[in-house]
Amino acid sequence: MKTIKVSLQYSLNSITTPLVSNLIRKFNVEVNILHANISLNKIGTLIADITGNDQDIQDALDYIENQDGIRYKLFNKKLIWQEEDCVHCGACTAVCPSNALTMNKDTWCLEFSKEKCLVCGLCAKACPLNVMSLQA
Ligand code: SF4
Ligand code: SF4
Repeated sequence: MKTIKVSLQYSLNSITTPLVSNLIRKFNVEVNILHANISLNKIGTLIADITGNDQDIQDALDYIENQDGIRYKLFNKKLIWQEEDCVHCGACTAVCPSNALTMNKDTWCLEFSKEKCLVCGLCAKACPLNVMSLQA
């Protein structure tokens, strides 16, 4: 079993495709939606983790590729936090869209939830000490 992180791009009028439920039903994969910005008559984005065995994941990706108006992009990078150099200023939490970065209210130290991270890189731009970075 492995987990991949994908960004799905929906073109105009393509969101009526029941993509996520079809992936789960047809390919025996788990789909964990991390972020979705989708509404009728607009282009949309959905970011999700897909978990399954290698073949099922590949079949699921091939299925997405064949859907009219829907494209996917794999996240090949991951966020690296050099925790020992972090001064816990909290600047990165203000830009994180998924609450993957939060301040612990008791210790006032930064906490990072890898599972919630969308690998968007906004925190890396916001960090004044460059202790956040995206790496392949
Ligand atoms: S912005 Fe940088 S230094 Fe500040 S809490 Fe975030 S990672 Fe740490
Ligand atoms: S890359 Fe940084 S800002 Fe983006 S979701 Fe992950 S932790 Fe949050």
